[in-house]
Amino acid sequence: MKILKFGGTSVGSAERMRAVASLIQSDEPKIVVLSAMSGTTNALVQIAEKLYQNNNQEAKALIDALLNKYKQVVEDFYTSADIKKKAHELINNHFEFIRSFTLDLFTIHEERAVLAQGELLSTALFQFYLEEQGISSVLLPALNFMKIDENEEPDAEYIAKNLQVELAKYPDTNLFITQGYICRNAFGEIDNLKRGGSDYSASLIGAAADASEIQIWTDIDGMHNNDPRIVKNTYPIAELSFDEAAELAYFGAKILHPSSVLPAKQKNIPVKLLNTMEPEAKGTIITSESKGGSIKAVAAKDDITAIKIKSGRMLLAYGFLRSVFEVFERYKTPIDMITTSEVAVSLTIDNAKFLNKIVTELKEFGQVEVDTDQSIICVVGDFIAERSGSGLKIFEALKAIPLRMISYGGSKNNISLLINTSDKVEALTRLNDGIFERNNGEQA
Ligand code: ADP
Ligand code: ASP
Ligand code: MG
Repeated sequence: MKILKFGGTSVGSAERMRAVASLIQSDEPKIVVLSAMSGTTNALVQIAEKLYQNNNQEAKALIDALLNKYKQVVEDFYTSADIKKKAHELINNHFEFIRSFTLDLFTIHEERAVLAQGELLSTALFQFYLEEQGISSVLLPALNFMKIDENEEPDAEYIAKNLQVELAKYPDTNLFITQGYICRNAFGEIDNLKRGGSDYSASLIGAAADASEIQIWTDIDGMHNNDPRIVKNTYPIAELSFDEAAELAYFGAKILHPSSVLPAKQKNIPVKLLNTMEPEAKGTIITSESKGGSIKAVAAKDDITAIKIKSGRMLLAYGFLRSVFEVFERYKTPIDMITTSEVAVSLTIDNAKFLNKIVTELKEFGQVEVDTDQSIICVVGDFIAERSGSGLKIFEALKAIPLRMISYGGSKNNISLLINTSDKVEALTRLNDGIFERNNGEQA
């Protein structure tokens, strides 16, 4: 079994979806995971904002605009009048559902149901197309098997068990279509795996089905060595290890959802990043092996808050760090980076929801300073201790940029630097010019 996930741009129009249909033509058993058509989840987020504000007039206008887009998709997508009729009925039902919230109470539960409509629409429309083309396939409802627990973590056991139950209903089927992103939560309500979550769906489904391969089809030819939205002259990396890919995804490489590598790593399932616009391009393959040069890629993560705790007392006396970490644990706030000295400890968080409460508690241990608008620059590669010189290259490239924190040695794959977000573009550009040797067999 292979898992093939197609992102928003890859299913962004009738034409793109037809291209996906031709890419999945083979007898090999596969589960195809689709995102919402590009722009849809953003539009649904906006609609939800208006509904929260009780701004029903503007919500209705946005709903109508989105519906019109889908009406056009239906017209462009199918040739058979019967299927067109069915597809128009389908979109009308979904939009009727969304519109019903202009008359009703709107809370986080309704919001999640609204956000789920994008993937429900794209998969149902795609399934109609396959039907029209006479391609035999089954639409699997992700809400029947994708589940997160009370800590919003995927329930791998439940997913594996219930996916098998669904698949077993269709022993003669080789092609399954399902929704990315959406799931049920611990209370059985509709929920989601956070923005960009379809990648995570694909790897969770891959792990649950013991797949031989997970393919993430997107709008670029693999993981690039730097953020192509910010820096010119980036290039795809042919091979990455699970750990390297996980670091890049977590620290801002948007091509992969931050958590999507782990399920594949745990089951040792290769992940390929491929381009729907250029299907013959090699892309990136992610496996357990690390190959290629010492410095492979950089990524940047914004909206970071740095917290420094300065203490007159013996800061690093045993038990001190535990007390500090316990404060973050109480507020379920993960720490990304940490550096220590004899008199102070600095750490960073990306979820500042409980910042004020955390700071109030930390003040019991000493003086607390907070810096917002920080970015973590993460340099990923194979920094085994025996290899020297990588640090020099990085610092040389960044010599004009103030560095707030540096973290090295946590893993052999990562050097992280904290800078002001206002310096990010310059930092990524200078690193691009200064640290890469292109010795990983990348294409130009
Ligand atoms: P999809 O809709 O297919 O999930 P995304 O927009 O989520 O696609 O991810 C693909 C985008 O990620 C690319 O178009 C690119 O702009 C962006 N991106 C950011 N960093 C990287 C990187 N290091 N390598 C490749 N793409 C990246
Ligand atoms: N449609 C969702 C989003 O836009 C999930 C995804 O595309 O991966 O965030
Ligand atoms: Mg994505």
